[in-house]
Amino acid sequence: MNIVLLGAPGAGKGTQASMIEEKFSLVHISTGDIFRANIKGGTPIGKIAKGYIDAGKLVPDEVTCKIVENRLGEEDVKGGFMLDGFPRNIFQAEQLDKFAKIDVCVNIDVDIDLLMDRICGRRVCACGESYHVSTLNGETKCKKCGGTLYRRDDDNPETVQKRLDTYFKETAPVADYYKKQGKLFTVKSGKGSPKEVFAVIAEKLKEY
Ligand code: ADP
Ligand code: ZN
Repeated sequence: MNIVLLGAPGAGKGTQASMIEEKFSLVHISTGDIFRANIKGGTPIGKIAKGYIDAGKLVPDEVTCKIVENRLGEEDVKGGFMLDGFPRNIFQAEQLDKFAKIDVCVNIDVDIDLLMDRICGRRVCACGESYHVSTLNGETKCKKCGGTLYRRDDDNPETVQKRLDTYFKETAPVADYYKKQGKLFTVKSGKGSPKEVFAVIAEKLKEY
């Protein structure tokens, strides 16, 4: 089973991704994580990506598509993968169809007014876990691995606003792209806990 996870910044893609990864043994591929690792490692890709990410813009398609195509060519994804953060515009979705077969697009739909607070209150761990300050009670370490939690550089109000603008302009239309292919599954997130949202997604993914 090959899936695409879609949703605005702050929709809870990362949280759902780690639960899906565990239950369905899919290889989790997050383009955001790949870029952040490249920035940390000071690679040429990292140098290109940083300016775009700090500005809340998309990294150019030719860079991003190549990374994903290469990654999907590796052996470990043969048993199924989950893309998180890709495709982020129609062009990327079209390119993806040329080098992979997608079974379903899980679209996490969240009320816009929840997003700003969710992202600005987000604290992440290098292992991929993320938390919200409102439930951390001052805790500064990751529950899963003990790593020190931190706020992502692009999780500040100004950059978040730009990321949301980019999302509505470029990424939201990707849902329609998969709808036309009969592959879209939308789950409402917001009032429900991450576990409840996951239960709905898991029920759907059992079909594949
Ligand atoms: P979020 O979903 O919380 O906005 P991500 O970790 O998925 O964060 O992505 C962080 C940043 O990395 C994006 O704002 C963008 O600049 C860049 N990025 C990630 N995926 C892509 C992509 N598919 N195409 C272009 N840029 C991307
Ligand atoms: Zn951790």
